[in-house]
Amino acid sequence: MTDANPLPPNDWPELQPGWVWLCGAGPGDPGLLTLHALNALRQADVIIYDALVDSRILEWARTDAKLVYAGKRGGKPSAKQRDISLQLVDLAKAGKRVLRLKGGDPFVFGRGGEEAQTLVQHAIPIRIIPGISAGIGGLAYAGIPVTHRDVNQSVTFITGHDQSGKTPSALNWQAISDGSQVLVIYMGIKHIDRIAGELLKAGRPASEPVAVVTQATTPDQKVLETSLGAVVADLEKSGMSPPAIICVGRSVKMRQVLDWQSMIAGEKPRDLDPLGRGRPAESR
Ligand code: SAH
Repeated sequence: MTDANPLPPNDWPELQPGWVWLCGAGPGDPGLLTLHALNALRQADVIIYDALVDSRILEWARTDAKLVYAGKRGGKPSAKQRDISLQLVDLAKAGKRVLRLKGGDPFVFGRGGEEAQTLVQHAIPIRIIPGISAGIGGLAYAGIPVTHRDVNQSVTFITGHDQSGKTPSALNWQAISDGSQVLVIYMGIKHIDRIAGELLKAGRPASEPVAVVTQATTPDQKVLETSLGAVVADLEKSGMSPPAIICVGRSVKMRQVLDWQSMIAGEKPRDLDPLGRGRPAESR
């Protein structure tokens, strides 16, 4: 850790005593932090962070900052959501400069909305700092563009389980299947059999490409390329475990030309025209 401020001079907002900044830390790679996140890390007295916040990011904290872990790991239950929110309220009321740091984007399947709501209800002043969500940035690191003009005009972000830990019962899989060419599923590994089953039942083809990306953007990133019909068996064989982003749709094929990490490692693209369009992309 160092206390030199790496930010260029600017009108950076000041994290004042009694405030809570709710901030996204991105999917893992510390280089995907925003400058506002860095500015927050340089100022906070207390940082309450989740399991998905990469430890290298916390190295940007002030040397005397108090770091509080509020996630779950190794199957232990997470700190209760209510307790975390009230802890934030208490720290702010005690005059601390509080940074609530969450993986990805705080408002994407991260309960950031609930925490922010509690803070506002307790009249605690807040600032929200968005982050790069795993469902976009994590897929980009796997060479999968979340939209591509030749593939999709919409994308649907889905959570694989709801508050009860089950597959979300409120989801209309038929509508999702009919309505969106590309699906990006967070927290999907546990219920992948049910999710794949619902999509097949709704008429998505068993041959449809699927990618599972674990530990995206970190040195441990792994990518499984499979299909809707084979994903359950292939995932089991792979031994891959959460956190994972699952992408269903033809965009997964773009990885054959856009797997830039393999190209950096010296591999050639597998197919320059994976969608079989036959013309250079720029001429379309
Ligand atoms: N707010 C976060 C999502 C929190 S929900 C965001 O915007 O990214 C937690 C889920 O996010 C995980 O179960 C996984 O599905 C996904 N996730 C977060 N970080 C990830 C990573 N580095 N690699 C793969 N999936 C990740």
